[in-house]
Amino acid sequence: MTSQEINSYTGPLADLVQRLAETFIAENSSPPEWIVAAPGRVNLIGEHIDYNDGFVLPMAIERYIVIAAAKSDSDEAVVNLRSVNMDQVAQLDLTKVPEPSLPPKWHSYIEGVFAGFMKKIGADASSKLPAMNLLLESNVPLGGGLSSSAALEVATATLLEAVTGVAMGLDEKALLCQKAEHDFAGVPCGIMDQFSSVFGQENAFMLLDCRSQELKHVPFSSDNISVLITNTNVKHELSGGEYGQRRSQCDSALKKLGADSWRNVTMAQVEAAKDQLGDVEFRRARHVVTEIDRTWKAAKAIESGQWDELGEMMYASHASLKDDYEVSCEELDLLVELANSIGSQGGVYGSRMTGGGFGGCTVTLVESTKVAEVTAEMEKQYQEKTGIEPHSFASRPAIGAH
Ligand code: ADP
Repeated sequence: MTSQEINSYTGPLADLVQRLAETFIAENSSPPEWIVAAPGRVNLIGEHIDYNDGFVLPMAIERYIVIAAAKSDSDEAVVNLRSVNMDQVAQLDLTKVPEPSLPPKWHSYIEGVFAGFMKKIGADASSKLPAMNLLLESNVPLGGGLSSSAALEVATATLLEAVTGVAMGLDEKALLCQKAEHDFAGVPCGIMDQFSSVFGQENAFMLLDCRSQELKHVPFSSDNISVLITNTNVKHELSGGEYGQRRSQCDSALKKLGADSWRNVTMAQVEAAKDQLGDVEFRRARHVVTEIDRTWKAAKAIESGQWDELGEMMYASHASLKDDYEVSCEELDLLVELANSIGSQGGVYGSRMTGGGFGGCTVTLVESTKVAEVTAEMEKQYQEKTGIEPHSFASRPAIGAH
């Protein structure tokens, strides 16, 4: 699947909400009682270290999943779901807690959150959760590594809070959504995606310590700098269980290094253990240790407005993911090279792949006055070389679910 397949509306959130409310009225003959929105996210730096006790530095993006809902007059305790993007319907039975069934379907994420929430409110579930109609629409590209699934979970949790009046703590909400992803999608993800969608703030990145789960907002208010997201519109399906393989290579390397956490490992130790690690584990270790270092330094660079330094760290992160961690692909490398060569005329600070890799998006730091020019040139050259049309958009750090 490419992200082009989503019938995406790319205007401002208020317009998306307005449009969804109108569709809801047309389909249900009455207005929605609740409308919630939850954003996707992009990770600026700190890749493949969330499961290695590292840091990530994401921001919520101005792309949202919006859900409109109202009580229905059905006699049955059911929730009717419809996704405008997918043009598909599903039904959820409120008389029992939903059970996971793999492989996941588009509504599994919603069911996973209902399951967590129903368990939380226990006996109150039957009285607090009425029969409802839910309509959702999104402009987060699907499968582009921008966490459309986390946005769907967090939007659902936010809706359930509104409907029942049971507010959760923000950590609790993010963790409930993460569990839905684990259990109902079978994806053993870290905490970044759901935390970003919950905790997003305008004008701030989030430095998230994946070991302690501590989150610190890093102010980013400069209008002169823009974050450009470019979707390669490819997703290479790999059969080798690459994610699991990387995880076990890291675990094995850590054991050989005799350490209990990557946070306590230095490059000197990795160099000293080079023979024992062997080539592959040595390079995996070098990525983890240098990426952890780059990520917290990147947060410092944002705080002090050192955009050149931040850009250099983004390029270095990409090289490390490409050569040492081996999770990039030709299309991602091409976009980063194009950003670099176009940027040699000025205007681009840095660029790198973002997300799990093997396709998906790059993130590029661009001078705001140059965004249109850089985007047009990057898209043109990428299409000429690959025959694939990429999609780009610039985003400010966005507000989290509300
Ligand atoms: P990503 O988070 O990178 O976009 P995932 O594979 O984690 O990709 O999640 C994508 C899945 O989330 C889709 O396959 C679909 O099941 C669900 N999803 C996301 N957006 C929507 C939507 N607008 N309508 C229905 N389901 C959606």
